[in-house]
Parts: sequence; structure tokens; C-alpha cells
Amino acid sequence: MNNKPMLNAYPDSMGGRLSDIVSILEKEELREVFHSFYILPSIYHFDLDRGFSVIDYDINEELADKRDLDVLKRLGIDLKLDFILNHASAQSPQFTDLVRRGEESEYRDFFINWNEFWQGCGSMTEEGYIQPEPQYIEKMFFRKPGLPILMVQFPDGRKVPYWNTFYQEEHYPLYLGQMDLNIKSPKVWDFYKDTLKKIASYGAELVRLDAFAYAPKEPGAKNFLNDPGTWELLSRIQELADPYKLTLLPEIHAAYEEQIYKTLSDKGYMTYDFFLPGLVIDAIENKRGNYLAAWARELIDKDIRTVNMLGCHDGIPLLDLKGILPEADIQKLIDLIVARGGFIKNLHGQKNMYYQVNATYFSALGESEQKLLMARAIQLFMPGKPQIWYLDLFAGKNDHEAVKRAGESGHKEINRTNLTVAEIENALKKEVVKKQLEMLRFRNTCKAFDDGARICVEEEAGILRITWKKDAFGAELMVDFANEEYEIKEV
Ligand code: BGC
Repeated sequence: MNNKPMLNAYPDSMGGRLSDIVSILEKEELREVFHSFYILPSIYHFDLDRGFSVIDYDINEELADKRDLDVLKRLGIDLKLDFILNHASAQSPQFTDLVRRGEESEYRDFFINWNEFWQGCGSMTEEGYIQPEPQYIEKMFFRKPGLPILMVQFPDGRKVPYWNTFYQEEHYPLYLGQMDLNIKSPKVWDFYKDTLKKIASYGAELVRLDAFAYAPKEPGAKNFLNDPGTWELLSRIQELADPYKLTLLPEIHAAYEEQIYKTLSDKGYMTYDFFLPGLVIDAIENKRGNYLAAWARELIDKDIRTVNMLGCHDGIPLLDLKGILPEADIQKLIDLIVARGGFIKNLHGQKNMYYQVNATYFSALGESEQKLLMARAIQLFMPGKPQIWYLDLFAGKNDHEAVKRAGESGHKEINRTNLTVAEIENALKKEVVKKQLEMLRFRNTCKAFDDGARICVEEEAGILRITWKKDAFGAELMVDFANEEYEIKEV
């Protein structure tokens, strides 16, 4: 996979339809700026979670058209798309068949019947689901209060619980929810195979494996990152992806100290650099480059292939930094971003377990254009493939109205504002946008960043220097944290 800049947006983030984004990418101002585009999964048919609850992997004609993908290809832009292997929508053909036909459905085992899963491991409640014994629950990592189940009414009137790790909404007789798939079912593997084929047919080169570590489940084992189940799952997926020459990008959040990024890399996978967003804020706000430089050197020394980012469709991951930054410093960063209007959603009341701070990156940096430009420059010189959240490019601010509109669990909307074409045209005239585009064009076209480049990182007394060299070409970034200055030049 090339290491060139990648735009990241929903199909309707810039203008309303994917064709609008394509037209924007064809504009003179955007020429040679991006080499790749990560289109979020509302490009498929979906219901909840702005795309991550997939009904089927056909193109969502309300937002996109296969022709848009053809134009992107003609523009030389390769694609990153999602494969959401842990779950499928309750409105998927498989789940609706199950609800309609109950035990008779050919998809009887496609999803995880909670009571069958926990058979013999707990006691039946009056509501009709098994409450597993405490020794099983202890190992579990649940993302919402209560048990992760959706009770579904079968044709014979019985209510049956199905495993549902992420979101759900019940509007009986309509069920909405991200229903966990049963990876022990051969039919699920047929579905995986067909899905990868379809994603490849859209022109994807990079495939994001959404929330993959929740998929392998066993009574008595962890339901997140279960070992060796998680690694076996990945290697089977890799085998299915190989015929299509797809590069997999497994998505997982874990504290640095757990070294999961390292395990992934040792096994030959690309990995997300979820440490960079927090380390850059730390460096800029605390006027120090030491932690950032140490991480950059580790990536180089261990030859870890990453996709990195500042903002993205989720929050800013700060608890991932446990083990890199002192815990008190992590807490201070969280407090700072919250004081600047961000939200922290603790996992059902338990503080500091996991979780991200929801804010735009620009607002997290106190809406200082100079800081955003420094952050962007650092990102583009870090080892890895830089992914650029559209709203960061346009210096988007925290959208509190959108959070209010979205109601409960709508906190992520703070950083997902859709922009109109007129708003984008206006933004393209702003210095903070023009300067980012210029840096991106340099990163995309300067031969110093070509494959096989040598990267050198120096840091002393609050000055960071990162140099890329390939053959006769060289590019250097200097950041002076104390004076909030940066300089990019060819060397
Ligand atoms: C995605 C989230 C999504 C979840 C469930 C994640 O890791 O990034 O936005 O809610 O998976 O699909």
C-alpha cells in the first residue's frame, strides 16, 4: 500500500452526495492533493450508526453511484472501504429472514442466539434470557449498561435474545441494531467471502476491519481480543482477501502498554496509529516534542506500517496513550479538550476505562489556526499513510447543535457536520485551508516521500526535526514548539 495522503469523509459530508465530493476533488485547488479516499460505510445500505450497521453491501443510491467510483479511479484515487465483520443490521436480509421464519430460517445460526451460547453457564431470567454466572461476566467488556442483547419476537410469539454489542433501537415490529455474527457458522464465512469480493469490485485497495476484535466469542473467554481466536480470525480473513490483493487494516483501540499495535505489525498487518492525535496535542499544548519523537522513532526502528490521522469520524483517542504519557498528563489533556467544549463519554459510568473525547481537532486545539497547521505538518511528516478528516481540513468547530439534535448517544455528531458546496467554496479561500492543501500537495508529490525513503527524527529542547530522504530528494520539517512555529523545506 502506498503511503500517500488519504481523504476521509462520509459520502454526504461535502455537498450531499459522493458525486459532489468527486467534483470538489476535480477542482484546481484539490489537484494532486490526495492519492486515496476512505469513504465511510454509509456508501452501503445501512440504518444506524451512520453506516456501521450495514443492511447489505450494495451501493447506497441515496448518496452514491458506482459511476462516482469510476471517476475516482480515473482521477488516480484509490479507495479504503469498511468491512464490518462483527455485525450486520437487524434489517439485513439474513436477520429479517430469521425474525420472519424463526427456527425454520436458513440463517438460524448466522447470528448469536444468546441463550444457546450460554447454555449451562447461567440461570434463566423471567424475561427469557440467561444471566451468565459472575465468573463469565468478569471477563466481559460490554459497551453499554446491561447485557448486550436484543430480544426478538419469533413467529410463534417467543422472545429470543440475540447478541448485540453495539447500538440498537426497538420500534416493534421494527428492529434496528448491529447484530453480532456467529463466526462459527459456515454461512457467515460465505458471506465474508462474497463481501470482500464485492468491496474489491468497487476498487478498494485498503480494507478497514471494523471492530474485528469483538467477533470471536467463547463462553469462559474474553469477548474482546480473545487470544488466539482474534488472530485466527484475522488470518482466515487475510486468506479470503489475498486473491483480491486487498491490504487489511484491522481497527482496534487498546492502551499503548498492551502493545497490540506491535503484535499486529509482527503478524504482518498494517495498523492504525491511534497514538498520534493525542501525542500531537500533547506536544503542541505542553511545548515538548520528546514523547512524539520517541513514538516516531519506534515506528521507524520496528518498521511498523501505519495509517495515521488527527481527527476522524470517532472521538480523539486519549486513553490509548496509557503507557506512553504519564496518566496525570493524559487526564490533563482530557480536561483541556473538555474545557474547550468537547465531550467525554465514559463507558457506562466507569471512568477512564476506554474511550475517546468527542471534539473537532481544531476545537481541541483551542481553534488556533497556527496550531492546526503545526499539527498537520507533523502528521504529514510522521511515518505512515496520513488520513485527513474532511472537517479538519476545513478547520471545523465543535457542532453542539448537531449533538442536541442527535439526542442520546449523539455525542459523536460534534465532529460530523455536513458541509454544503457553498461552504466548501468559501473555506477554500481561507489561509488555514490553502496552507493545508499546499502541504498535502507537497507530501503527495515530492519524491522524498516515495517508498523506501529514510526518515530521520531529531528532538532537542522543544525543537523537532523530521527529515525524509529518497535518492537525491529530501524534505525536512522543523517545529519549534515554544514559539509555535514550523517550517517545511526541500533539502
Ligand atoms: C467504528 C465506530 C462504530 C463501531 C461499530 C467502530 O470501531 O469506528 O464508529 O460505532 O465500530 O461498528
